[in-house]
Amino acid sequence: MQKYGYRANEALTSEAKDVFRCEICQEYAGFNWSDYSGEAMCNRCGTPYQLIDREIPKEELPKRKIKPEWIPVLKRYWEETHEYTGLGNISISPGAYPECVKGRRLFNEWLDEHPDLIPGGTGG
Ligand SMILES: [Zn+2]
Repeated sequence: MQKYGYRANEALTSEAKDVFRCEICQEYAGFNWSDYSGEAMCNRCGTPYQLIDREIPKEELPKRKIKPEWIPVLKRYWEETHEYTGLGNISISPGAYPECVKGRRLFNEWLDEHPDLIPGGTGG
């Protein structure tokens, strides 16, 4: 996958890896870094988490970087498609993240077909 993925996997202690389950895909499948310092995405579904942060207590890491109202939407998307979303911060070098670019496009297309699921949206 993307750059430095093996190092993102090393950011978690072995104990953290034992207990961590991604809130969207319900597994620990390792991580790959985004462009934001200390932030990485689940290798399986692309959900972003903060793995390293000087200001967040270690026991609160990995910290999900998705707003609560989007969790059921992303879970449904995962259950229906099993597509990688790649929703981490890739603003600096999107060309280095083809999986994220494709994942976002597919997710946006799916949302276009499910406007009623968009939190705060005008659909439905
Ligand atoms: Zn996941």
